Amino acid sequence: DVEDVRASQAVRLFETLVQASSCRGTLQAFSTLCRQLDLDPLDHHNFYGHLKDAVRSWKVQALWTKLDKRAQNKVYGQNGACSGTRVLVVGGGPCGLRTAIELRLLGCKVVLIEKRDTFSRNNVLHLWPFAIHDLRGLGAKHFYGKFCAGSIDHISIRQLQLMLLKVSLILGVEVHVNVEFVKLLEPSEEPDAPGWRALVLPSSHSVSEFEFDVVIGADGRRNTLEGFSRKEFRGKLAIAITANFVNRNSAAEASVEEISGVAFIFNQRFFLELRDETGIDLENIVYYKDQTHYFVMTAKKHSLLEKGVLLRDFPETERLLSPENVSQDALRSFARQAADFGTGYQLPALDFAVDQQGRPDVAVFDFTCMHAAESAALIRRRRGRRLLAALVGDSLLEPFWPMGTGCARGFLAAFDTAWMIRGWRAGRAELELLAERESLYRLLPQTTSENISKNFEQYSIDPATRYPNLNSCCVRPHQVSPRTTPPAGPPADPAVRPGLLLAWCQRQTQGYRGVRVRDLSRSWRSGLALCALIHRQRPGLIDFDALTEDDPAGNVQLALDLAQREFGVQPVTTGAELTAGAEPDKLLMVFYLTRLYQAFRDPRD
Ligand code: FAD
Repeated sequence: DVEDVRASQAVRLFETLVQASSCRGTLQAFSTLCRQLDLDPLDHHNFYGHLKDAVRSWKVQALWTKLDKRAQNKVYGQNGACSGTRVLVVGGGPCGLRTAIELRLLGCKVVLIEKRDTFSRNNVLHLWPFAIHDLRGLGAKHFYGKFCAGSIDHISIRQLQLMLLKVSLILGVEVHVNVEFVKLLEPSEEPDAPGWRALVLPSSHSVSEFEFDVVIGADGRRNTLEGFSRKEFRGKLAIAITANFVNRNSAAEASVEEISGVAFIFNQRFFLELRDETGIDLENIVYYKDQTHYFVMTAKKHSLLEKGVLLRDFPETERLLSPENVSQDALRSFARQAADFGTGYQLPALDFAVDQQGRPDVAVFDFTCMHAAESAALIRRRRGRRLLAALVGDSLLEPFWPMGTGCARGFLAAFDTAWMIRGWRAGRAELELLAERESLYRLLPQTTSENISKNFEQYSIDPATRYPNLNSCCVRPHQVSPRTTPPAGPPADPAVRPGLLLAWCQRQTQGYRGVRVRDLSRSWRSGLALCALIHRQRPGLIDFDALTEDDPAGNVQLALDLAQREFGVQPVTTGAELTAGAEPDKLLMVFYLTRLYQAFRDPRD
């Protein structure tokens, strides 16, 4: 009957999404699915539930069960811990996508922009055991049947992006490709002006209208998000070469052993023999058999010069590795020889896989100088609008590829960031929150697959579930303040016209139950309006629904105390005093509300 036809059509459409093998194909399949099943992808809160209702088969049920199990973790507060929080994620690499998924599970509205519309990186990422467990929990096997089968502990970057993109879409992340982030746009002076937005290219794209409270920089090593200074680690010259060869999945190829990085970094005999036999001098080499045969190696400069890969010697690495100074032919034969020797000449044919431009996929990269952000997060305020900005992935901490730490530390930082956003939404004090985030960030470069918790089943965004002997207070709140808050602007005008003040109060308290601000005295007696002002500013501080009109003194006192503790606004009176008469003293109210106005719109704006 009609119902059965619809149900099998839904399963078929969903299967097309699951099987899609490119970024564009995935987005296309997703949009067809939504259209045909009449699902609204912008209804982010209900999307997953509606999709689940529409697509039912035993096979897909296994995926729903996994995702439901994940979503039920108590940290997410039943998808409500961060409801109302709007997040812009910049970059659809593995870490941007992974962060987006956590933020959706927390209930945020998440918009992700990616400047490209292809996932083309054949290069392979090493996955620590926790990351394999994590991805399995998100249904990795459903999207990619070969995911970490047997003892495999790696995945191609493109395959990982593809899988995370599908999960993101299913959970209600709004993804826009071919959209490039340029810079943040501050809220402007005009009344009712929009909050924080982004300047994007193309500038007419609908994302430019999106107002957000949180922005995540996940656009890789270059990091476009402003406000973060970077530390540079200049080590000894380190030139890495990556090469991908076609994997035809033959029996002969299957029997060739992989080269795990750690084992080979210490195998000096191997490197001596390689040098004697081929003239190639390496510091390390890693080989993973994935969708391609992937090799990453660090080569010594003299050997690259001797083998004609580098045409001339220059002291500056930039010139040394500039395209004009690299012979592509010699580079290909260098990589092929190293790969051949490394695998005992067992790989039958070493034909290069092709990159996005259709060229042989071999490349040389400079790791002499690597970057890490000075801080992981900061809070900006303009015209009373707060913005939490955070970095994840390579934008935060650039990895040295042969060590294979990028994805693992990237995921850990994604979880830590989601934890911070949860705390921000719950109304935790700003400096305390930033200090905790910086403490965790300091741990990050020291994390190894050995020293993090082995109890993967317990893992959540709560850092205590992942880092044993966690000291989340090694950075103290007073240490973050000068670094993480933006430079001071001119002081605010101390006098605020009563008309402007009233209009501002009305805007801020609009829509709150039992609150109708008509003036600057009587309307404030129940205390609810004051509580609404604070709630609008930081919802996690007050359970507004639990307040009643019957306790005016208690309500006012609550607001006065919170304003003092959280925003440094000195009280002008007590709750009891302010509510003693038929209406609060107007002069006192104007005086106090002016202070709140200035604190919330930030005196430094
Ligand atoms: P990325 O994976 O770099 O993703 C950043 C995303 O942001 C990209 O999709 C990019 O298109 C997008 N973007 C950039 N600027 C903007 C903007 N202004 N607006 C919108 N979107 C933007 N690691 C290894 O361990 N081994 C390897 O062999 C290896 N090879 C790599 C090869 C290349 C070419 C690159 C770039 C990285 C490689 N890495 C490798 C690093 C590895 O990919 C990352 O550590 C890992 O993917 C996590 O990165 P990420 O998500 O933070 O950033």
